[in-house]
Amino acid sequence: MNTKNQRYDSAPRRQNTRDAPVSLLNEAQRFEFMNILRSHNPSPQPELKFRNPFELLCAVLLSAQCTDAAVNKATPALFAAAPDAQALCALSTEQIASYIRSLGLWQAKSRYLKELAVTLSRDFKGAVPADFDLLTSLPGVGPKTALVVLNVAFGRDTIAVDTHIFRLCQRSGLCLGKNALQVQQRLPALIDDEFKRHAHHWLLLHGRYVCKARTPDCAHCAVKSLCVTGSGRTAHS
Ligand code: SF4
Repeated sequence: MNTKNQRYDSAPRRQNTRDAPVSLLNEAQRFEFMNILRSHNPSPQPELKFRNPFELLCAVLLSAQCTDAAVNKATPALFAAAPDAQALCALSTEQIASYIRSLGLWQAKSRYLKELAVTLSRDFKGAVPADFDLLTSLPGVGPKTALVVLNVAFGRDTIAVDTHIFRLCQRSGLCLGKNALQVQQRLPALIDDEFKRHAHHWLLLHGRYVCKARTPDCAHCAVKSLCVTGSGRTAHS
């Protein structure tokens, strides 16, 4: 997961024209695509461990360029020492760093967590705001982090597009875009409302474990018949 300071993946060059299609699947195919993912995992769960919105926000911020498993190893000790924004605020940046030194970008993340805790304590009485604009005003919190927090902690129908979802969307033809941000802007209009609550997790888990970056497991992919890469069919056929 990214913060606003991170770059999104680059896009295939052929999608840079203004007339490029937004999806290579028609409406019925997109519905079936999501319906299949739902049928395989009706109640998807986040892999990051957290007990409340504050811990989720910290965990998502820490997950930038890290695996969720690595974050889950580091956060129990951090959250034991700092179970809320006020307690985290009381820790020095160096003390915060001592808990997350195993994670990539730990120095920048230590500073962000400290600034985040100060801002939450000072401006929000320690509570994580359930509002996109307020969330993205917080130190270290970019649009994608905000969308994840709104979806997971507050049950909103938001879809955050990370590298796994971007890759899956591009390969399958579900949603095309020159980068993750453009796919994030386009995807909600292509997903039926009944799937939006869990679309982020269905697409994320499928991208992470099936449509993998180096070796997509097309042979065992549940949406292969709909995917333009896996099936070899042409757009909308
Ligand atoms: S068929 Fe292959 S390329 Fe298409 S979504 Fe499945 S794993 Fe990805």
